Amino acid sequence: MRRPFVAGNWKMHGTRAENAVLIEALLLGLPAQPSVDIAVCPPFVYLWEVARLVKGSGLGVGAQSVCAEPVGAFTGEASATMLKDVGCQYVIVGHSERRGIFKETDALVARKFLAAHSHGLIPILCVGETLEERERGQMAEVVSRQLRAVLDVAGVEAMRTAVVAYEPVWAIGTGKNASPAQAQEAHAHIRAEVAARDAKIAAALRVLYGGSVKATNAREIFAMPDVDGGLIGGASLKADEFLKICAAAQAH
Ligand code: PEP
Repeated sequence: MRRPFVAGNWKMHGTRAENAVLIEALLLGLPAQPSVDIAVCPPFVYLWEVARLVKGSGLGVGAQSVCAEPVGAFTGEASATMLKDVGCQYVIVGHSERRGIFKETDALVARKFLAAHSHGLIPILCVGETLEERERGQMAEVVSRQLRAVLDVAGVEAMRTAVVAYEPVWAIGTGKNASPAQAQEAHAHIRAEVAARDAKIAAALRVLYGGSVKATNAREIFAMPDVDGGLIGGASLKADEFLKICAAAQAH
């Protein structure tokens, strides 16, 4: 049995005051003994404070990126050790905004994944195709290439603790989610790619769906057999929406 997982990617949103209000509402609304893992991923500058606000609650904290290097002259970056030091358990790597806007390559994403994993953080590895790639029928090829880049560098064993998020780029922030069938097809492909290296690890791997998940569509997407929860962008900034999405994951 895979325990569902819902993570909120706050992206570059929030203020200290807004974060405090959001976290308070989440802590009030979350069940005392959830059967789903839940985390929020604030911007770097708020990680320490959010980690303190959620301390002891069971709500996890993740960063949105990590430096591939351990320490040194890397202006603007934060290392895996630093993220652990301020209270993170998770870190998103390879988000399509990092790949697209900040030109992170498959090779760099793999090194970031390895840095996170080897310092005891749980990487949430994002993979997914653009609209052009989907229209060319290349979803499986793109997702395999992105996954293999990480598997070749970090090894399949690293997937014992990692989480993968299928995030079709055309569905992120667009209000246009993948259909449950499209999500299932991609998730089954991801699991098969990992299973080609280790079937047991693949069977236990949590694969999240991300891309315009809302309270109104979460239930049908999470009902798919290879969907183990969600990585939530816009809807994670509204406590009532995020709580409903967590409840939908809990229901499976
Ligand atoms: C994301 O950026 O990871 C995401 C899934 O965004 P949204 O839910 O807003 O589409």
